[in-house]
Amino acid sequence: MIVFKNVSMRYPNSAHLFRQVSFNIDKGDFVLVTGHSGAGKSTLLKLMAGIEAPSSGQILINQQDIGKLHPNAVPYLRRRFGLVFQDHKLLYDRNSFDNVALPLSIQGITGEEAARRVRAALDKVGLLNKEKAMPITLSGGEQQRLAIARAVVSRPSIVIADEPTGGLDQTASLEIMQLLKAFNEVGVTVVIAMHDVAQVSSIAYRTLHIDHQTISTLPAQTAML
Ligand code: ADP
Ligand code: ADP
Repeated sequence: MIVFKNVSMRYPNSAHLFRQVSFNIDKGDFVLVTGHSGAGKSTLLKLMAGIEAPSSGQILINQQDIGKLHPNAVPYLRRRFGLVFQDHKLLYDRNSFDNVALPLSIQGITGEEAARRVRAALDKVGLLNKEKAMPITLSGGEQQRLAIARAVVSRPSIVIADEPTGGLDQTASLEIMQLLKAFNEVGVTVVIAMHDVAQVSSIAYRTLHIDHQTISTLPAQTAML
């Protein structure tokens, strides 16, 4: 589903983050991207989502080379991804319902169909009773669950989350991980960047570990931390 072939990446005027890395992420995988702060975890996610371009090499999403996509095709690629960030990136002047409805309205889905899907997504993350709440009145864990509802409302095939438990306590972190795992169990491929894997005990996952400009892949394992 996601294939990296000999991908190298460096930002202008800086050292290489990766050199010639190759790996596959298969449909239905639950993958953690690990590595120290500054190793390139966020950058790797941005490459997958087509937000950054590699310095060299190929990135294929469903057999399509994203470096060769026509600019008009990029919004369609983005739609396949649900993105979740550590800082939520919610719109604080709109209520929960409107935050989740936004990706649908960008696709031209409005009215009853949009409302049904927004409520289905809010229900999945346990926030159906908070649809009128403004994000600022929600706890950190609830804000992150709202961001996950917004990420999945367009039914993406891949969810990419960058430190989604950053700043959350242990209980809220575990809830977020279990929620992402629940989407994975209904077939969504999930890729999560995380520097601290202590929160994922008892969840089976594959690891892509970034170190010294290389990426090592470890097979599925269950953390017992
Ligand atoms: P991680 O997520 O593992 O902490 P990042 O991918 O955020 O790592 O960053 C890796 C390195 O690339 C850091 O040294 C960071 O400063 C640098 N970097 C990240 N984004 C940019 C950018 N847009 N331009 C230049 N350097 C960047
Ligand atoms: P509906 O299909 O009627 O919208 P579902 O209960 O199937 O309701 O899904 C509720 C929400 O959960 C969807 O809007 C979507 O956000 C998310 N979801 C469910 N299944 C998937 C899936 N396979 N891939 C991505 N998102 C999903």
